[in-house]
Amino acid sequence: PPLHRQRHQFVIDFVKRNKPKKVVDLGCSDCSLLQKLKFHREIELLVGVDIDGANIKKKMHGLAPMSTDYLQPSYDQLRIELYQGSVTQEDARLRGFDLVTSIELIEHLTLADVERFSEVVFGYMTPVAVIVSTPNSEFNPLFPRPAGFRHSDHKFEWTRAEFKTWALKVCLEYGYEVEFTGVGQAPPGQEERVGFCSQIGVFHWLGGRQDCNMFFGDDAEDVFSYTLLYSI
Ligand code: SAM
Repeated sequence: PPLHRQRHQFVIDFVKRNKPKKVVDLGCSDCSLLQKLKFHREIELLVGVDIDGANIKKKMHGLAPMSTDYLQPSYDQLRIELYQGSVTQEDARLRGFDLVTSIELIEHLTLADVERFSEVVFGYMTPVAVIVSTPNSEFNPLFPRPAGFRHSDHKFEWTRAEFKTWALKVCLEYGYEVEFTGVGQAPPGQEERVGFCSQIGVFHWLGGRQDCNMFFGDDAEDVFSYTLLYSI
């Protein structure tokens, strides 16, 4: 299957195993991952965020229940919310989730904004788990036209060592542990040398699961910087 589908399948397999109740997809684009996740009935709150509101709006109505959903006794337990906003800004509605996904997003940020992303996601949102995928630049020589980045909007593409350096720093600063994996296999014999086409870090919060309201208290000043585009 194409690589973008393999990345989404990786998230779906994680959801099947870990059964998160609240999931947010950062950089959700045209909601294609959310569209697949809505069929996983353990999820009670599914949120998408993207800086590009027009992109979200293109297909967001496809997230509405279909007539067959009404035959499912549990259909009304899922709530979906889509926000226009930047991952460099905090929004109190995104705190305390079970899973945050960031699929092929960080390489579109400047390194200064990657720092903000780390603070916002791991330091402020403090989800139980985070899945981050980004291109592995060591794989690039295997492409037919290897020069340059894979996409003109990419601000960087990291080697496995660079990704690891960022991820381990995040873990130390915010109390997470991380496992490294990926999707998109190199040809036989080259797997070790070049790694996966997309590298993935799966982070787990070391503090364990907490009740979000108890944990954050209600006297903190709540910031709402995102714009709600759709809720169903
Ligand atoms: N995650 C999707 C996927 O796997 O197909 C889309 C990935 S697309 C390459 C990157 C997305 O990140 C775009 O939809 C873009 O608008 C969004 N994006 C870029 N900068 C962002 C930011 N600061 N905050 C939120 N989204 C951002």
